[in-house]
Amino acid sequence: MDQRPVRTRFAPSPTGRMTIGNARSALYPFLLARRTGGTFILRIEDTDQKRFVPGAERELINGLHWLGIEFDEGPDVGGHFGPYRQTERREIYHEYAWKLVEMGHAFLCFCTPDRLEKIRQEQMKNKQNPRYDGTCRNLSLDEGRRRAASGEKYVIRFKMPKEGSVTTTDLVRGPSTTENSALDDTVLLKSDGLPTYHLAAMVDDHLMEITHVIRGSEWLPSLPLHIHIINAFGWEAPQFVHLSVFLKPSGKGKMSKRGAAEAIQGGHSIFVSDMQGLGYIPEGVLNWIALMGWGVSEGDVLTLDDMIARFDIHNLTPSPAAINFAKLDHFNATHIRLLQAGDLAARVRPYFLREGLTVDDAMLLKIIPLIRERLVTLDDCLPFAAWFFRETIQPDPADLIAKNLTAAQSAEVARKSLEILAALPEITPVTADPPLRALVEQMGLGPNQVFGILRVAVTGQTVSPPLFESMEVVGKEKVLERVKNAIAILEKMK
Ligand code: GLU
Repeated sequence: MDQRPVRTRFAPSPTGRMTIGNARSALYPFLLARRTGGTFILRIEDTDQKRFVPGAERELINGLHWLGIEFDEGPDVGGHFGPYRQTERREIYHEYAWKLVEMGHAFLCFCTPDRLEKIRQEQMKNKQNPRYDGTCRNLSLDEGRRRAASGEKYVIRFKMPKEGSVTTTDLVRGPSTTENSALDDTVLLKSDGLPTYHLAAMVDDHLMEITHVIRGSEWLPSLPLHIHIINAFGWEAPQFVHLSVFLKPSGKGKMSKRGAAEAIQGGHSIFVSDMQGLGYIPEGVLNWIALMGWGVSEGDVLTLDDMIARFDIHNLTPSPAAINFAKLDHFNATHIRLLQAGDLAARVRPYFLREGLTVDDAMLLKIIPLIRERLVTLDDCLPFAAWFFRETIQPDPADLIAKNLTAAQSAEVARKSLEILAALPEITPVTADPPLRALVEQMGLGPNQVFGILRVAVTGQTVSPPLFESMEVVGKEKVLERVKNAIAILEKMK
């Protein structure tokens, strides 16, 4: 792999919530930059005023921070190639659009939206591809200047050559040739004075010295136009990679707004800012996203550092990737298990606090090894472990009665267990397991019957972390108190 330091960028439009698609469009150029000791840039492409959503930029930046995708240059951090928000670069685009006009590669177009719409309707009726009909293509520059100066509204269009062809190369898809006659005189500068994506992105990628453009596949059809623009300026083109599309979990069709809503109904989300609330950790999310379009082996467990060490742009694949939430769960659970106990404790702590519980940190550290293997998402800590922090628990009386036993028989089991537990100097798996198993034998019962009663008595629930380990964490005093309470409940039930 070419090791020269690259300059890459993530260039989102602040037009909505940050999706996992955005995250992937940020991750790969970030990895390439880190892999080569290069620079990763955040550029906010906010020139489409109609689609602008306030707060979207903040959400993107927060999402990148949460995921650990740090940018070296960008709106908050600055850099030598700023400003990094396109609306703050208007004059630059204006200047470059006019350069193209003066060089004869672009022209001023005064056609009104009404007229253009009529042409479009006509072309559609005749089953032609809608395109500009060339009315203003040959206006002289002088006339253009005069009409513009008199206040007439205009746009600047690229003057696409009528003949010849253009060959483009996408690093993962290879070369492709397009006849120029199939291309349009696309608008570069709009009548509001703001550039379209085509002009703004090409100018910025050049001025910001971007070496590798990694972007969504929706831009692949525009690549011939982009190469024309770059050639018209006489610039060197960056390398282009267009990422695969995300398909709905069913594999049928592209991920859409509706698909996003369905995911939320199913307890998942494609929005990065939802992931945290759903108990996902950035390590799990990143691993999942990384493998949707990167041809390393599917089950690979990768941290961000592993990804940086292994990333190779040539292993990106153009094949569509179906969003698979089961894989997200798998990677999340796997990365939770890889966390240091103290780190995991700090991450689950807020979930307990949110429940209104007071967290004893020393106890929390002891609980971590008991629940770590069971967590798929961080919020799973609640059903397994919230009871540890409750002063009192209220077992459901029905749960205290063991299978195939009466309430009286269950009370008898609890009384005998209490005697054994009370006699122990302290309760640990080593001290409690043998005598209680002996009790199981002696009473001719199954372990699940005896331990089931004790589990419900001590934890208040039928599913819990390992029983004796849990008792050790809770401490002898509380265990005895709770078993006594269970006996009282059972005795009342006769
Ligand atoms: N603003 C464009 C988008 O969000 C960026 C595409 C690119 O990376 O060049 O789709």
